[in-house]
Amino acid sequence: MTRAVTYRVTFIPGDGVGPELSEATRRVLEATGVAFDWDLQEAGADVMHRYGTPLPEHVLESIRTNGIAIKGPITTPIGTGFRSVNVALRKELDLYCCLRPCKWYPGVRSRYREVDLVICRENHEDLYAGIEFEQGEPETLELIEFISKLAGKPIRQDSGISIKPISVTGTKRIVHYAFDYARRYGRKKVTAVHKANIMKYSDGLFLATAQEVATEYPDIAFEDRIVDNLSMQLVQRPEEYDVLVLPNLYGDIVSDLCAGLIGGLGVAPGANIGDHAAVFEATHGSAPKYRGQNKVNPMAMMFSGMLMLRHLGEDEAADRLERALAAVIAEGTYVTYDMKPTREDPTAVGTSQVADGVIQQLESQG
Ligand code: NAD
Repeated sequence: MTRAVTYRVTFIPGDGVGPELSEATRRVLEATGVAFDWDLQEAGADVMHRYGTPLPEHVLESIRTNGIAIKGPITTPIGTGFRSVNVALRKELDLYCCLRPCKWYPGVRSRYREVDLVICRENHEDLYAGIEFEQGEPETLELIEFISKLAGKPIRQDSGISIKPISVTGTKRIVHYAFDYARRYGRKKVTAVHKANIMKYSDGLFLATAQEVATEYPDIAFEDRIVDNLSMQLVQRPEEYDVLVLPNLYGDIVSDLCAGLIGGLGVAPGANIGDHAAVFEATHGSAPKYRGQNKVNPMAMMFSGMLMLRHLGEDEAADRLERALAAVIAEGTYVTYDMKPTREDPTAVGTSQVADGVIQQLESQG
């Protein structure tokens, strides 16, 4: 098939099982007929000895230039003083939305059916802003004294402190993103999640800002839920939710809860999106113990590739890839150990064979 458009995309294989998953995903994406010009970039533990950092500047530059990247998971080196590459990418490129569509496909082993919701998690603020004060340090004691005086409430001297900033600016853009997403993909409702009854000036501001933004989208229903109530309802009636928009911490926890609802890490895709760049990646990590074994499930990364196709406006190719993945899952032959009835099932196939199965399905769709 000849096409007018060729997409230049930064391609980061990652480390651990990343390279195997990335290769399987690359083959499947190319089999959709969309033309890619991959800008191969290496990041992670494996490049530290060459560049002195797991995230070299030229990798960031490549994503800034191309505006889009797909990446395999990257190990966070422990005890080296380097921050997580995944966190650094989000900060450096201002990827303020962590997007996690959670959809159940027939054939996936899960206690739940009919789950099809989308999580938009704010990526920079909240308790994850990294503003922390260690217990016992002089500046911590100074801060404790200052706050105790200012707020008129005592804080114990032996406290550690993490600051929770939530801004109108940060909230507006994530809530706008959630509503724009709902419009673009024909979703009916946005639910803002918070604990505004307790944290009036951080979560309360998030809620008030979300309510204000919602008035600009009269075509999309809006509601809010307190995070503890939402957690209970998600395990009782997940089908009642559509698009969820959450501050960083609740978003992190609820994302994993919802990944569990749809069958776990092997099938949970994701993306980190900003106004100028988007990075598509599976929810799971680099599973180092399975490295090089052609064993783990590439579907989460393939579904992330499907999200990338949609982001590029290649909806028809994205639909075909989704149908092909759904068919492979439903048939249950070309699937890895984690999707079989037992983990020791001898009929489980390897990572690259899943790609073969998906490509066969794509070809049979014509
Ligand atoms: P992990 O997701 O790598 O693995 C946890 C377990 O989940 C694995 O042992 C495996 O049993 C299972 N699993 C994960 N992916 C799977 C797949 N595709 N198919 C089948 N089973 C799968 O989590 P971890 O062990 O906590 O983290 C390992 C490393 O990955 C850490 O260094 C962590 O910082 C990093 N990490 C990276 C990312 C990212 O790149 N975005 C995300 C999370 C964790």
